Order: sequence, then C-alpha cells, then structure tokens
Amino acid sequence: MLECPICSAEVNLGPDTVQGELITCSDCGTELEVTGVNPFTVAEAPKEEEDWGE
Ligand SMILES: [Zn+2]
Repeated sequence: MLECPICSAEVNLGPDTVQGELITCSDCGTELEVTGVNPFTVAEAPKEEEDWGE
C-alpha cells in the first residue's frame, strides 16, 4: 500500500508490480510510475501527450 504523491489517497499495488509499471490513482486519476519496488515508491509519470520533439 502506498500514498499517492499527488492527493495522498491510498494506492494499491499488486504483488507482481514491477519497476517502471504505470498505474493510475483511482482517486485523482494521476498516472503514476513505479520508481522502486523494495520498498515500493511511485512518482508522477510524465504526460504522454507532451511532444518532446523528434
Ligand atoms: Zn491521487
């Protein structure tokens, strides 16, 4: 169990969650990237809509 870094809601991660996995906070809808698994840590994922150039 983690806290969403954006809204502090509880975020559930499955036991098979892997680093780099993207999850969505069910409370605020923010996409979160799993940045570590021992212990679990998450950070706000970069927005995919952004165009970072070619
Ligand atoms: Zn949230």
